[in-house]
Amino acid sequence: MKIVRYSIGSKTEYGILDGEQIQVIDGTPFPEIKKLDQSRKQSEVKLLAPCEPTKIVAIGLNYHSHAKEVGQPAPEEPIMFYKPSSSVIGPEEKIYNPGSTRVDYEAELGVVIKTQATKVSEKDAMKYVLGYTCCNDVSARDWQKNDSQWTRAKGADTFAPCGPWIETDIDPGNVLLEAYLNGECKQSVNTSDLIFDVPSLIIYISRFITLFPGDIISTGTPAGISPMKSGDTIEIKVEGIGTLRNYMA
Ligand code: MG
Repeated sequence: MKIVRYSIGSKTEYGILDGEQIQVIDGTPFPEIKKLDQSRKQSEVKLLAPCEPTKIVAIGLNYHSHAKEVGQPAPEEPIMFYKPSSSVIGPEEKIYNPGSTRVDYEAELGVVIKTQATKVSEKDAMKYVLGYTCCNDVSARDWQKNDSQWTRAKGADTFAPCGPWIETDIDPGNVLLEAYLNGECKQSVNTSDLIFDVPSLIIYISRFITLFPGDIISTGTPAGISPMKSGDTIEIKVEGIGTLRNYMA
């Protein structure tokens, strides 16, 4: 099932996308989906970021291939950082570089949280997941290197493209994750290369930080990072979800 969030006229709604048709949802999909007897055509709406996270908890160095690429050992515990809600943009929107010398894309699988998660146990972890989306952990490498933390490097406005929707039915441990820069494949790795898998991340994060409905865990990027320049088109593809496309302003 594909859950979309969109604007139509002055209204914002959630719905279930089926082909070209969207069945409207009552309110939000959190914690339960209630379908209304009302539909829209996809062509008459503008897709937005698929949810409104209070925060994105992103994970650094979570692919064996990427750790190797940057010459670091696999971490013993997940490396967490925040991307603020103000950094989120939706599909087809522009990414703005606010003055960095190098802005990279990072293709990531995003996990959308369904219900409030605090100190989650191993057997329950996946019950807190609504579904999955494509994320681009846009990163200013100069600031990431030179600032003592990553607030500016990872959290600037427009640095968290998400979408195009939430897919509820994929196996997050076995899908192909790819980045295409101007149509050229730059990253292509199966999520089976993750160091910490989705349930492990939910358990670990929720030990310290409560996750709210709509919060996103951005699970880390594989090898193949490189910079984007003005006018570039960047696409993040996750098998079974779809393609998130954005443009560098
Ligand atoms: Mg990342």
